Amino acid sequence: MQVHILGTSSSRPAHGRSVSGSVVNTNKGIIVVDCGEGFQERFVKHNKILKNKNSKYRIKSGKINTILLTHGHLDHTWGLLPLLKTLSLDGREKELTVIAPTLDIIVERILQSDSVAIKVEDIDVANVDIYNQYLQWWSLGGTTEELNYRVNWILVGVDKNDDINKLNAISINPNRGQIEVVNDLSKFTNGIKIVNIPTLHSVPSCGWWIKEPDRRGKFDSEKARRNNLSVEQIKKLVNGEKIDGFSPKEFMMESKKNPSVLISGDTAGKNPGFRKFSNTNYETSVLIHEATFLQINKDRAEKYFHSTALEAAKNAKLIGAKQLIITHFSSRIKDTKLLSSEAIEAFERVHAACDSDVIVIEGEEIKINSYP
Ligand SMILES: [Zn+2]
Ligand SMILES: [Zn+2]
Repeated sequence: MQVHILGTSSSRPAHGRSVSGSVVNTNKGIIVVDCGEGFQERFVKHNKILKNKNSKYRIKSGKINTILLTHGHLDHTWGLLPLLKTLSLDGREKELTVIAPTLDIIVERILQSDSVAIKVEDIDVANVDIYNQYLQWWSLGGTTEELNYRVNWILVGVDKNDDINKLNAISINPNRGQIEVVNDLSKFTNGIKIVNIPTLHSVPSCGWWIKEPDRRGKFDSEKARRNNLSVEQIKKLVNGEKIDGFSPKEFMMESKKNPSVLISGDTAGKNPGFRKFSNTNYETSVLIHEATFLQINKDRAEKYFHSTALEAAKNAKLIGAKQLIITHFSSRIKDTKLLSSEAIEAFERVHAACDSDVIVIEGEEIKINSYP
């Protein structure tokens, strides 16, 4: 698995840093997490850099299966519709899924009325809530019929106090008015496991935990040979059947743990979701956590539901991540080393991301390739 970080700035581009957007390249295709302004251009530019460096980690937009959004702020969503349009111009045929959070109550009302045209005047819905953006994108041509490839639009109702693994999701086909309950998001990720982690921001938000399924242990043929097993006996063991004196388990080598990444999106440092996540048995190889502010601006961080670098580090420790990557830096901060030196107080393996960084996760090994 590699994570390509295509933007590390919060709110607006600054100091050569672009706004949010990451590409998670898994063994089952690409998942994009957030898609701020200019995302598709950054994708192309990044690939050129990788090509010039003869990197083996180049990425192809045709391999994108799923786009996950963490919340509706425009520095995370403005590049989505142009990307969908370009994929159409590229002649895309295979389906694509967009999954994004909204208020629980919006999902409930859509389900109750069996229509996307619900009344929301009596609830406090932000203009940039993903529900509102979906309506806009559909009216601007973001539909299966206009793009000529199938787009699955999924809304996930979230709340900061949700339990991990609670899923309140629907899939919407806007032109046909079809609305379906979604019970398993991995149907839309080519089998990659994804879990939404409740976060705490000024609009409905969640982080995304993404994991390649662990590989089953191989059959230990050397051990079979030592025990003089016949081809028939080996076949039975491989099929999970017992044979005289041996069980299949005895011949299975240890399963190979595959990598996982958690991308926080925008969140206040102290939030119930990370605490709940730390009580699950989900392991996280790499945590990519926002660190908008330094400790000196911790009041600002609290007021606007963002994190300081130190808070990001505390969350990395809390969930037992192996590596912390901090991102989403305020334009007030020119030198991101200031942030990592604060984070290191609480968590040693920290790296302040640069645009175009490629985080390579292979088994237990994590490498960071930077292209200054
Ligand atoms: Zn943001
Ligand atoms: Zn935000």
